[in-house]
Amino acid sequence: MFNAILIEKQDAAYRASLKQVEESALPEGDVSIKVAYSTLNYKDALAITGKAPVVRQFPMVPGIDLAGTVEHSAHADFKAGDQVILNGWGVGEAHWGGLAQKARVNGEWLIRMPEGMLASQAMAIGTAGYTAMLCVMALQRNGVTPDKGDILVTGAAGGVGSVAISILAKLGYRVVASTGRPDEADYLKNLGAAEIIDRGTLSQPGKPLAKERWAAAVDSVGSHTLANVCASMRYRGVVAACGLAQGMDFPASVAPFILRGITLQGIDSVYCPVADRQEAWRRLGKDLDIGKLTQINATTIGLDQVVEKAAELLAGQVRGRIVVDVNR
Ligand code: NAP
Repeated sequence: MFNAILIEKQDAAYRASLKQVEESALPEGDVSIKVAYSTLNYKDALAITGKAPVVRQFPMVPGIDLAGTVEHSAHADFKAGDQVILNGWGVGEAHWGGLAQKARVNGEWLIRMPEGMLASQAMAIGTAGYTAMLCVMALQRNGVTPDKGDILVTGAAGGVGSVAISILAKLGYRVVASTGRPDEADYLKNLGAAEIIDRGTLSQPGKPLAKERWAAAVDSVGSHTLANVCASMRYRGVVAACGLAQGMDFPASVAPFILRGITLQGIDSVYCPVADRQEAWRRLGKDLDIGKLTQINATTIGLDQVVEKAAELLAGQVRGRIVVDVNR
């Protein structure tokens, strides 16, 4: 038996709770893992609360991230004792995920733990941080260098935003953080933000074109915020869009695209090709001050606190990253 968060649905009743589960109930897969840490991402909170149809079959163990040790492997690339990370691939949505002491998964989904990184640190990064790195890689592949000007990060005090600030600041970019929590200004500056702006300046319907301000942006908010970000990009600016914290809509015009030649790059972490994942994790081991990030950005909880924290996260009351010690 092992402990797991289990989401069950019967007719209209949707319930997530901490349960003891038989190992024989684990899904098919060629690698069994003793999970050390998981995380709580925005998507996990949606799955646990049932606020959005994230879960595609029941019962489901949520958790789109895990870090742990291989116990048994029939996959040629992994053997017992290997330290591994898993992000996405539908885990926690269509296949049992990381918010449990055990997991059985497809070996193709696994990434080797970067040299010197601890499982707890990998989960302080988690899907949110790995997505932040995919956003930074997208900006760089589109030619954004620190001399081009200010980089805007929206949803700054959240998981993606906070890690994006840390990475960009370490790489020498000047970062402007947009937040609805001005009382988190010191925290955001500690992460590396040079300036803080009120997210209210971006969240209302705006003009098709606004004053040119940003060389690039990382947006985890969507909706009017993303439309206003696009409208205020400098000529040939680049926006990496990965989230929908404000909404899934995109009420924008083509003006910034056809008059300023801006680029809007979509970011998906779930089915991102393995080569990009490996590069992202290799760079997270190098371009991030993980010790500092973990210290100022991560809160560790046990499986017994996950359901309650999920509601807080959706209410915008969580700062940075939640790490889940599944054995606590
Ligand atoms: P999070 O920790 O909850 O952070 C989201 C942040 O967005 C909040 O901290 C808040 O920042 C801001 N926000 C929340 N509600 C808002 C609103 N109504 N209007 C404007 N800003 C709002 O979540 P996360 O884990 O960083 O994820 C952020 C988004 O990225 C989510 O939509 C998630 O689904 C998405 N995501 C996508 C991928 C992908 O593969 N594309 C991967 C990871 C995450 P402030 O308090 O600083 O304002």
